[in-house]
Amino acid sequence: MANVPLPYFLAGLGIVGMMVGSFLNVVIYRVPNHQSIAYPPSQCPKCGHRLRPWENIPVLSWVALSGRCSSCKTSISAQYPAIEILTAALTMLVGWQLGTVPHLLAALLFTWAILALSVIDLKAQLLSDAITKPGIIMGLCFSMLSLWHPADAWAFVGPVNAVIGTIAGYGSLWLVATAYRWRTGKTGMGGGDFKLLAMVGAWLGWQVVLMTIFLAAITGGAVALLYLLSGKGRHFAMPFGPYLALGAWLMMLWPQPIIAVYLSL
Ligand SMILES: [Zn+2]
Repeated sequence: MANVPLPYFLAGLGIVGMMVGSFLNVVIYRVPNHQSIAYPPSQCPKCGHRLRPWENIPVLSWVALSGRCSSCKTSISAQYPAIEILTAALTMLVGWQLGTVPHLLAALLFTWAILALSVIDLKAQLLSDAITKPGIIMGLCFSMLSLWHPADAWAFVGPVNAVIGTIAGYGSLWLVATAYRWRTGKTGMGGGDFKLLAMVGAWLGWQVVLMTIFLAAITGGAVALLYLLSGKGRHFAMPFGPYLALGAWLMMLWPQPIIAVYLSL
């Protein structure tokens, strides 16, 4: 795999990313409604028309059908191809940044999971247990795998750091949320946020948990400020999950530059 030329490597990741993005669309659409992601097969939400194989090709089918169901002509949201293109772009970016390392698989699985979580959180203000709980377990399992080949590990961190990271991720936000509720009587963050950050700790370790809170506070704070300045009122509910996800993802790919900037502050 180390001998694959970079353009082929990236093109392959792009195709994989499109197909995964197509699957993430199903996850994003069905998980918040507690529907199975395996059954029924892809169909038009309006008329129930089962998608034929050629109607289920990422991005291309949507373009070929002009964004409409072939049966009832109901328009199909541009969100579908957008998620497929975004997934492909992020997949290629992760591959380009990390290269053909053994923990590339872990990096991609983590990226896809937090992307689905973020989109669902933005749309439905929900960080689904159906993704975060298996995500925590999978991260811990990957950290165990690194015991076999410590030199080129399949995970970013070993099991000790992963377990500490999981506890630190859940516990730190729980403390913040409990203190906030005690001071104000209001609920700021939900349990889904605790579990998302526990998942970050399971995959990337406790150091990344701390930096993720820092980055999410800055980016989330900046967006909240823009909301206030734009006069949208003080009573908007802003999901925190996407900012945690973004912070963790940036730390996964560019830890040194971010820590350097942080230390210089
Ligand atoms: Zn239809």
